[in-house]
Amino acid sequence: MSYNNENIFAKIIRGEIPCKKVYEDDHLLAFHDIQKAASTHILLIPKKPYCSFNDFSLNASPEEISRFFKTAQLIAEENDLSKTGYRLVTNHGNDAMQTVHHFHLHILGKDTLGNFTSNN
Ligand code: 5GP
Repeated sequence: MSYNNENIFAKIIRGEIPCKKVYEDDHLLAFHDIQKAASTHILLIPKKPYCSFNDFSLNASPEEISRFFKTAQLIAEENDLSKTGYRLVTNHGNDAMQTVHHFHLHILGKDTLGNFTSNN
């Protein structure tokens, strides 16, 4: 899949669509999900155009990948999730029902999230 500059997160990065910002630096942006799946539901994205985790893992530098996951931990810490627990989710492709084709990590917490491995 080639990257589409008109996806919703590209518009958020360009400031064309507002977001409730949680964190920003030169490389990364984090903001609250518009449709919360938990009491705290933050999306962390790189500003560079990667379609999904698969694309990011294949094409980002080790520095970018390290910075991304270190920042996910920092955001969890700053949003008071570290002690009680949190879940990281990223969807790649159709079977995972990825809906926005700009790589993003869901950071979910502040609730008991249920047994992820259960089929119920
Ligand atoms: P995916 O299903 O691709 O893993 O996750 C996409 C996420 O983006 C969904 O949880 C959805 O609620 C969120 N989302 C979609 N459009 C917007 C938007 O305009 N603003 C924000 N903040 N989140 C959005």
